[in-house]
Amino acid sequence: MNFFKNIVFLSQLTTTNIKAYFKSKEPVASEPIYTNSVNWYGHATAIINLSDIIILTDPVLSNYLGHFFKRLVDKPYLLKGKRVDYILLSHGHMDHMDFPSLRKLDKTATIIVPKGYKRLMKIFGFKKVVVLRHDEVYEDDKIKITSIKADHDGRRYYMGIDNESHSYLIERNNKKIFFAGDTVYTQKFSSLECDVALMPVGCYKPDRFACMHCTPEESYKMFKMMNCPAMIPIHYKTFKISLENFDDTTNILKNFKDETLKIINIGETYKL
Ligand SMILES: [Zn+2]
Ligand SMILES: [Zn+2]
Repeated sequence: MNFFKNIVFLSQLTTTNIKAYFKSKEPVASEPIYTNSVNWYGHATAIINLSDIIILTDPVLSNYLGHFFKRLVDKPYLLKGKRVDYILLSHGHMDHMDFPSLRKLDKTATIIVPKGYKRLMKIFGFKKVVVLRHDEVYEDDKIKITSIKADHDGRRYYMGIDNESHSYLIERNNKKIFFAGDTVYTQKFSSLECDVALMPVGCYKPDRFACMHCTPEESYKMFKMMNCPAMIPIHYKTFKISLENFDDTTNILKNFKDETLKIINIGETYKL
């Protein structure tokens, strides 16, 4: 039965992506990266500025994911060659750990990865690779980063036996940003305090994806359990890797009629 479901899913996805292939990309905003701000680059990639230190989450800077999934919108910035201080990778899926992007990025950046990816990052040329297990902390004179277990099987192509998936809490000069990565609904974040939460709201269709990803409603519910004044929805609108309609996702979020839900577009900057 699953075999036929997979065939239907893949054919629907292929049709959508073939259509996207012939469409020109939508233009996007390219707002400045202010001191103490979050700019959404697209999908799970955010450019975070904390007191002028630059942190990049799950960088996907490519026009295609795996040569097949076309980026639906333009890229806000040319990040190649730009100074990046820290790169955080949440897990090994290709929409979060994009090899062509990692090859292009500043190799002097400290890259923080879950267990299972250190050797790969060394091969890409990163000089400082930090591996965090769940609930571990990396701290230096500029930043504190805490890994929190995300409920998500993030192994690349199901390889590896104990590769982990993280969410991260990023702290610098009394500012705190939570980056959830990918996760199903969990109550693990309920005691968490932060200034803004970057929460995934995509990849929830077909329904069986619920074993890997949260819905927008679940994402919002997790946010509301935190002690946090603002949520930025991410992980949608960029690549068509699941079957939900992005406008439906946006409408679900808007229907919460909650000003703490900051629905920004790709390339827009949220000031802390
Ligand atoms: Zn994932
Ligand atoms: Zn993902």
